[in-house]
Amino acid sequence: MIPFNKPHLTGKETHYIYDAVNSGKISGNGKYTKLCQRLLKEKYDFGKCLLTTSCTDALEMAAILIDIKEGDEVIVPSYTFVSTANAFVLRGAKIVFADSRNDHPGIDEHSIESLITSKTKAIVPVHYAGVACNMDKIMQIAQKHDLFVVEDAAQGIDSYYINNHGKKQALGSIGHLATFSFHETKNVISGEGGMLVINDSQFEKRAEIIWEKGTNRSAFFRNEVDKYQWVDIGSSFLPSEIIAAFLYAQVENITNIQQKRKSIWERYYNQLIDWAAQNNVGLPHVPSYATNNAHMFYMVCKDSSQRDKIINHLSKNNILAVFHYLSLYKSPFYELDYSGGRLKESDRFTETLVRLPLYYDLTDDELTKIIYTIISTPF
Ligand SMILES: *Cc1c(COP(=O)(O)O)cnc(C)c1O
Repeated sequence: MIPFNKPHLTGKETHYIYDAVNSGKISGNGKYTKLCQRLLKEKYDFGKCLLTTSCTDALEMAAILIDIKEGDEVIVPSYTFVSTANAFVLRGAKIVFADSRNDHPGIDEHSIESLITSKTKAIVPVHYAGVACNMDKIMQIAQKHDLFVVEDAAQGIDSYYINNHGKKQALGSIGHLATFSFHETKNVISGEGGMLVINDSQFEKRAEIIWEKGTNRSAFFRNEVDKYQWVDIGSSFLPSEIIAAFLYAQVENITNIQQKRKSIWERYYNQLIDWAAQNNVGLPHVPSYATNNAHMFYMVCKDSSQRDKIINHLSKNNILAVFHYLSLYKSPFYELDYSGGRLKESDRFTETLVRLPLYYDLTDDELTKIIYTIISTPF
């Protein structure tokens, strides 16, 4: 069976974990946490970085930091993972769902302004498949209406937005806050894991407190305060050094990981493009203002029956391809609270998008087999 995903090990993970264990300090915010945070901050020109136990946790920290309260409204794409919305619902927010673009599952930036009311507090663009949303436009809208932007960059590591002046900005370095995931299905992994990036420095101090259960423990260990006390709300958002040690082995190897993933992505693209055109199947679109980090290779079928045929044919040949999100505005949890209109593109991607196996250890022969199987699907 060719699985949909296989976590890739660089080889150094257990070495660093062994080192962390031997050092006698395996709780959070130690040597490996700091190494990961520094490397990522410098490589991508991020603001302050804090490792978290997941992207979900980083999103929950973001919701606390921007002070989401009962009744505040947050604009979130409907076509995304549950946590993008749930983190704000936990603080009492009403989620206002936005539709996707027609040519990409990312948020339709032109639909945002009409969703803003006096209660709107934040916009949460999701860089689907690691392909940037139109960040100049989104930041402009946010500035005009005095809103915060929290980038859900869970899939966006090592990808860029090319701004109106032609400058490349790493995803996660643009919004006031940004969140990453190192879940085993992402490009760079630690099993479960994530990171909060704080680009707006007004949030730096408080972020550290929320991260450490609402205490000023980090400041205390830097000898900035003489007592370590309960000073705010917070939770246990920081991962142990064992997780950070694993992650460090991955982060160190990011160039190599990305090269391999991109070569797989490109082979899919080049070898499927003719078949796709003949069969009305859409391949991933990367707008001119975005780069591709090969997080995902997906196809957009002409309808759900075509998608079922492809998934079934692959499955009969022992290849696992999977669909993705289900429109959140129609979810059992939110459906009754939803008061907006139908989100046509979100529904279309729900019904027609299929993702193909893409992982570092996928062999050339396996890739050949997957591509051949797709092309031979009987319609
Ligand atoms: C993976 C993912 C998340 C959740 O990440 P975890 O680290 O598993 O909490 C959130 N948003 C998006 C867009 C994701 O792809």
